Amino acid sequence: MALATLTIDHAAIARNTRRILELSGVPLMAVVKADAFGHGVLDVARTVLDAGATWLGVATVEEALELRAGDIHAPVFAWLVDPWTDVESAIFARITLSCPNVETLAAIENAALALGITADVHLELDTGMARGGSTVELWSALCDAAALAERSGAVRVTGIWSHLAMAAVPGTGSVHAEVRLITDARRTAEAAGLSPQLVHLANSAAAIAHPTAALSMVRVGAALYGIDTVSGVASGCEPAMRLTSRVTQLRQVGADVGVGYLHSYRTSRPTTLALVPVGYGDGVPRALSLGGSVSIGGTRYPIRGSVSMDQLVVEVGAGVFSGVSLGDEVVLLGDADRGEPTAAEWAALVGTVPHEILTGFGRRVARVAAPFRQTAAL
Ligand SMILES: *Cc1c(COP(=O)(O)O)cnc(C)c1O
Repeated sequence: MALATLTIDHAAIARNTRRILELSGVPLMAVVKADAFGHGVLDVARTVLDAGATWLGVATVEEALELRAGDIHAPVFAWLVDPWTDVESAIFARITLSCPNVETLAAIENAALALGITADVHLELDTGMARGGSTVELWSALCDAAALAERSGAVRVTGIWSHLAMAAVPGTGSVHAEVRLITDARRTAEAAGLSPQLVHLANSAAAIAHPTAALSMVRVGAALYGIDTVSGVASGCEPAMRLTSRVTQLRQVGADVGVGYLHSYRTSRPTTLALVPVGYGDGVPRALSLGGSVSIGGTRYPIRGSVSMDQLVVEVGAGVFSGVSLGDEVVLLGDADRGEPTAAEWAALVGTVPHEILTGFGRRVARVAAPFRQTAAL
């Protein structure tokens, strides 16, 4: 039996999917990159499609092909495409490819001509991340090249897209400016002879807080997994991942006992220590050594000493009357409504975003699908 288990609540993911559809009022591309933010890509893909998502979005072609190998035939969009990508496999599998520049366009065009299959392409504009995509300056040339490639039958530009830099901070003006840029970019594309049907820009934060950025479709990841992305705005989406382990050893110790590597914690009184067999090698951040806690039987207990690669130690109370027994379930990530730790709490403690916590769990952790919240269906 695995020493730690991730329980994935697909009913919660389905409710989150319907919530985003309702909030945005446009079709949804559900982002299932990075193993669906650690929740298990094939199961999540089926859940979100059943709940009303029409597209799936992933970063890499390998991720897209994994969906096809898993017998998922919905439209799939992959956005990390470059001249060295295996675009041939992608085109053969009817994956819609992002194209940020003429070099990538040439690779897609060559592969499509060799296969005799028209490749569906969404041109990528950079509206403000300074990360991937065509600059505004190069956009018109990219559209012209794409129009030429369309005439050869190699590609069909079915969409254009960008990614928002500042949607998570309400009140910044940049979302409106980015909407304007992509709207202008569509006009430029049309003037070049293209007819992109889909214009997509909005991530979770925009789907929740910026209705004018919804355009033809929202491209949402975080919210589906219950991550609140807009500071000060509760989206109504629920976490769908629960991490549990169990107390596998208990010991009584006296005062002034050093715990773990380098004795970074010393007991201040006679107390009971519980061993929990999960560590940073499983994705429990070592930085939780200071300030992290777990829930056992509905009570919070502090992590003591440094989190090791495979184990951590929790102080479960004074003397022999700790109330914690060998074999008790330990909740490392759970339900905030029950006072259990959450990914958002961990992220704040270790100075990261919940996304990094959710995508960080290792292969020793078992994954099971089961509902774990009592929330009524929407
Ligand atoms: C991760 C990602 C998304 C989803 O963003 P969320 O904030 O998780 O909703 C959308 N588009 C691209 C290009 C991404 O990389």
